[in-house]
Amino acid sequence: MTKEYAALYVVPTPLGNLADLTRRAEEILRSVPWVAAEDTRHSGPLLKQLGSQARTLPAHQHNEHEAAERIVAKLRAGEAVALISDAGTPGISDPGARVVAAVRAAGCPVVPLPGACAATTALSASGLLDEHFLFYGFLPAKGGQRRQALEELRPHPYALVFYEAPHRVLETVADLATVFGERTLVIARELTKLFESIHSGPLPEALAWLREDANRQRGEFVLLVSGAPAAVDDGEGERVLKLLLGEGLPVKQAAKLAAAISGAAKNALYERALALKKE
Ligand code: SAM
Repeated sequence: MTKEYAALYVVPTPLGNLADLTRRAEEILRSVPWVAAEDTRHSGPLLKQLGSQARTLPAHQHNEHEAAERIVAKLRAGEAVALISDAGTPGISDPGARVVAAVRAAGCPVVPLPGACAATTALSASGLLDEHFLFYGFLPAKGGQRRQALEELRPHPYALVFYEAPHRVLETVADLATVFGERTLVIARELTKLFESIHSGPLPEALAWLREDANRQRGEFVLLVSGAPAAVDDGEGERVLKLLLGEGLPVKQAAKLAAAISGAAKNALYERALALKKE
């Protein structure tokens, strides 16, 4: 009789607060014979603390092909493997996707565990009302490429979710302000850790807030930008708005009057007026 293939378990680990490891994740990490880790030295203390006897093998961005082959061989031999990254969910702006693809292609089961992820943790506390979100992860490190990527994202009506490192956060937020104008930025910093903070405001104000204090630029960041405002579909509202702006009325007053005259939604007209001003 042929031995059944064992499963690859994709296991999220805490972002900072160790209590965020789920009971199921603990059980898996204690029971599997192998743990494939992004950084075996980094994950060692966690496994030790759990009393896990698992042997570790490295699976990082520079050896993912080779790691995938080793992992498939273990699974085919009937030995289960848990895949972990340094923090959060493997494969989300982290190594893991190649391993999972190879394991699936080899016909071995992949079992995902739900758990910590900085993007969803930040979104849940963002207060952004967009119905949809687009997870982007890290933007390009070079300014020109970053601004070009942001320009491409500008028309989308989805909340945008970015990861950013502390040494680039200021320049990235400055670019966000240039490209997205008055849209709302949520800065979610050091989630689940001692200095967790979540700041929200129009982009120019959020940029000023970040600049004000160097401590606010430290740690790990998720940056969330509200989606592009819906176009005002009421032709009459837009017509009146343009007329009033053309007469030199301030944005707020023009939007208020255009809403009163046309019956269109004031908020949508206000967002539209800001966009028109920018154009
Ligand atoms: N796989 C991880 C996940 O599921 O969220 C993401 C790994 S990625 C290499 C690391 C980035 O995630 C950081 O640069 C930061 O943008 C974000 N991040 C991780 N931990 C965070 C935290 N505690 N607070 C805010 N952002 C965090």
